[in-house]
Amino acid sequence: MSIKVKNVTKIYGEQKALDDVSFSVEPGHIVGFLGPNGAGKSTMMKIITCFIPQSSGSVSVCGYDVIENPIDVKRQVGYLPEHNPLYLDMYVKEYLDFVGGVYKIDNRKGRIKEMIDMVGLGIEQNKKIGALSKGYRQRVGLAQAMIHDPKVLILDEPTTGLDPNQLEEIRGLIKNIGKEKTIMLSTHIMQEVEAICDKTIIVNHGKIVADDKTKDLQNQQKNLIVLTVEFDKEVDLKQIQNIDGVVQVKKFPR
Ligand code: ADP
Ligand code: MG
Repeated sequence: MSIKVKNVTKIYGEQKALDDVSFSVEPGHIVGFLGPNGAGKSTMMKIITCFIPQSSGSVSVCGYDVIENPIDVKRQVGYLPEHNPLYLDMYVKEYLDFVGGVYKIDNRKGRIKEMIDMVGLGIEQNKKIGALSKGYRQRVGLAQAMIHDPKVLILDEPTTGLDPNQLEEIRGLIKNIGKEKTIMLSTHIMQEVEAICDKTIIVNHGKIVADDKTKDLQNQQKNLIVLTVEFDKEVDLKQIQNIDGVVQVKKFPR
């Protein structure tokens, strides 16, 4: 298993950001982590990449535990954080050289060239990062995440804020990279997982509410029926919510 998350809870002060979350990601898949803002997506990704510890439960990446073997985990994982923090005053190659140095990569020049080709930085490669468009900055972010040739990529909202053209290009790039690596990406857009993910995990209020192949989820959506029912007296909405198969109950005023 590439990623194994077991009964993970994360509490910030008084707030439960993740509540008994369990899932696994198999090698070679592109998995979408779908949920609204505040659902707990970034928190989960920060735990998987050893940026913050969970409050309880366990997480392993390629068999390495994030608490016991963080260095081994970081070797296996590439991470593109939300909002892609980059040094805007650095040149693209200078920045990639810096990141390559952190990972102690041999033959850095050759590896940087490979990365520039892989993510399609092309004629932008000699510019300062601050001079690049958002789409090209995401390419730099992907290059830094992959420079140490990790097996698993964690991408936190990699397409948020891109215009439609850039969006298509970055999605295509991620799909291509996914042929070689295991990818987990977060998004709040259903169409995004439909476009690129084999599997979708839906998270809401810190809990997993669905974990299935994207195709099966799409079929389930098609099977949803909206039913309007009128009662001649006041009913307890909770009782209706508890009926098997009911997903959501809404009350309309008369
Ligand atoms: P998402 O990425 O799905 O938008 P986050 O993981 O960023 O969600 O946040 C989940 C919840 O945890 C939110 O309610 C957020 O306010 C809270 N949260 C996130 N980081 C912190 C933090 N460092 N301290 C306190 N609360 C936090
Ligand atoms: Mg987030």
